[in-house]
Amino acid sequence: MNESLLIGSHVGMSGKEMFLGSVKEALSYDANTFMVYTGAPQNTRRKELADLRIDEAKALMAQQGITQFVVHAPYIINLANTVKPEIFSLAVDFLSLELSRTEAMGSHVLVLHPGSHVNAGAEKGIAKIIEGLNEVLSEQTDCFIALETMAGKGSEIGRTFEELARIYDGVHRNDRLRVCFDTCHTNDSGYDLVGDYDHVMEQFDRILGCGQIAVFHINDSKNPRSASKDRHENIGFGTIGFEALYRVVTDPNFTDIPKILETPYVALPGDNKRSLAPYRYEIAMLRSGSFDPQLIERIQAGA
Ligand code: FE
Ligand code: FE
Ligand code: ZN
Repeated sequence: MNESLLIGSHVGMSGKEMFLGSVKEALSYDANTFMVYTGAPQNTRRKELADLRIDEAKALMAQQGITQFVVHAPYIINLANTVKPEIFSLAVDFLSLELSRTEAMGSHVLVLHPGSHVNAGAEKGIAKIIEGLNEVLSEQTDCFIALETMAGKGSEIGRTFEELARIYDGVHRNDRLRVCFDTCHTNDSGYDLVGDYDHVMEQFDRILGCGQIAVFHINDSKNPRSASKDRHENIGFGTIGFEALYRVVTDPNFTDIPKILETPYVALPGDNKRSLAPYRYEIAMLRSGSFDPQLIERIQAGA
């Protein structure tokens, strides 16, 4: 068992326990890191910081040796929207708040989907993202914004390393930018993680610099390479496969970088209301280093 692997999953934050509950959920998966949304990813309703139980969460993390976690901004933030000014200004305002929430919770990494240009073209979308990030990032920002590598679904920006590099080029405080490398997304956008991982990382290093990766999203994919789809699959059960994902999580260049699972919940046969979190099982499997073809059945059996 590779206990030093820095691995966790996205976890919820709700109910009475809020952020304290997030930490407990991560611990229930035997994770030593995690990712959390500050509220529903689809909307901007957020609780007051005072209601999140941050101090108790921090105390539990300290006691359990969790030293790193990341926050994910909601999907509705779209800095690339050039069509509706109110969507852009909502994105800028909300992103500023998310940065201060992330810092208050004790993280220094906020993951952000760069945005979708909604038919205005990548050129205009990238310019708008740069404008937004320049409004949000200041001297005082004590947090990185990690731009996620995207699958290229619809009009998503960030489907190539070059597109992310162009955002870096325009942002004044680009020392505050980092990258979130999502394995499902890079596969779906065309990078060959399975057949030529080293080459993909060489490309990344040349275009952005491997030191810019602040977090990995470790997901298998339901679709073949270059499908531009973005549908996550459980570890080892998709087109990327266990071996290629294991190579990413054990890459010695990224030992200290959190690896976060965003794989789908497993349905219970004969019960369409309940589904089960796969994370405890997937984390154990990745720590063990060998693929378990019976994993889904074991999750369903609660074994
Ligand atoms: Fe994401
Ligand atoms: Fe992701
Ligand atoms: Zn995705």
